Amino acid sequence: MKKDLYMTIRLQMLTEDPKEIELIERYWAVDEFGQYLEKVSALAGLIEMAQGVTLTSFIRQRCNAFDENQVCPKCAELIEIKNRSQAKKLPQPAIKLCTLCQKDQDDIALEAKRSKAAELERQLAEFCRNQSTLTVDYSAISDAHVLMLLALDRAITPRLANGGFTIGDCRGLAPLYIGDFVLQLREAGLVLDDPSKARPGTYYWEGDEIWMVRDQVVYRLAPDAESRSADEVIRSLSDRVYTDAEGIFNLWLDYSAADVMRYLGIQCELYNHELTEQELEEIKSTLRSALETYSVSQLWSVVWKVVRDAASLANREYYNRPKAAATIPGKIRRNLEKVRRESIELKSWSRPDQHPAGTLGMVLGEILSVDENTSGHMVSSLVTWLTGQGCSPSVGAELDEPIRELMTIALAHDVSSSVMLRFAELIRAGHDVGFAIEEIGETLRS
Ligand SMILES: [Zn+2]
Repeated sequence: MKKDLYMTIRLQMLTEDPKEIELIERYWAVDEFGQYLEKVSALAGLIEMAQGVTLTSFIRQRCNAFDENQVCPKCAELIEIKNRSQAKKLPQPAIKLCTLCQKDQDDIALEAKRSKAAELERQLAEFCRNQSTLTVDYSAISDAHVLMLLALDRAITPRLANGGFTIGDCRGLAPLYIGDFVLQLREAGLVLDDPSKARPGTYYWEGDEIWMVRDQVVYRLAPDAESRSADEVIRSLSDRVYTDAEGIFNLWLDYSAADVMRYLGIQCELYNHELTEQELEEIKSTLRSALETYSVSQLWSVVWKVVRDAASLANREYYNRPKAAATIPGKIRRNLEKVRRESIELKSWSRPDQHPAGTLGMVLGEILSVDENTSGHMVSSLVTWLTGQGCSPSVGAELDEPIRELMTIALAHDVSSSVMLRFAELIRAGHDVGFAIEEIGETLRS
């Protein structure tokens, strides 16, 4: 090591060529103020270098330079620098470690990372082993789960039977909340995680917990307790005799709420309304309970009106977009209260092109003969009829007499087709059969 009087850079020569040593010393030489004596450009021509090699890299290959003004915070050795700009004119604590300490630290970090990765592998393998012992008695699963599996199979066919799928593959399942529907099946143990098929990085450590990138998780159908193939399981599900009225109606409500919320999303996007998670949850629960009475397409019309009202509010003085958007949950609720109080007949909107029903809507539609225009009241009756629970003779008997009377009057006045149309209208508007009969009867008699 050689040290110039003013030089705070310690040089460790790796060459013995006197010409090269001279060049290196001139490169690093400074005056008493720490200014470099010669310009890099002036030094560049002194020695012939291979093409593409810069003076700095030529020198670095032949000499290690250490800055006396920077010491390693860990071992107090000098920090190696690569070029003039990394040198400090005054002593100062180094921000980085010296090369050796840095390497030690990197090695420790790498080792910790490797053992964490190995532990993750081990835990996932164990998880897979445990999962492979799980089986499901598909004849015992709920009606709602049967319908969801049938819809899922239709959305991702043939992947439910033939292998893994991700939430992204299930786009065709429902207009919204697809992840929630799949997670319901996962929680019921009907759909299992398959870490062996997931892309690397899907499962990762967050502190001492294993987290997952939800969208990358690969799922598969849980194996059948009777060892039937997934195809056979799906076929057996389509022969299901449904008995659980409440479960099916709740699934219809969940699905239909998704259908209305999707419409709300599209409308809000159109008018730049941004709703918070909490506001969306509030609206969803209002709409879900309104669906017990009304149809999806009627609620689309409510949403349409409210979103437009909020948009015009946003343009008013003292209002701004977030404030206007925040009125939407309350407006939807008040609007529905008014409709109910004043027996207003809601208009039905038709399904927008960019907003398909999804396979869950199709499956429900097929077993119940319903669609977005069927009122919740009607769906409830149809579910009860399908599941055979609502055939209590008293309900039918109560209506026997008024219906006979209504039909007699209708036939006598030769207005049976307009009576039937009016009946259909009232049912679509969300009224039940008893109300509709009474309402039409009154009009006929008056
Ligand atoms: Zn060190």
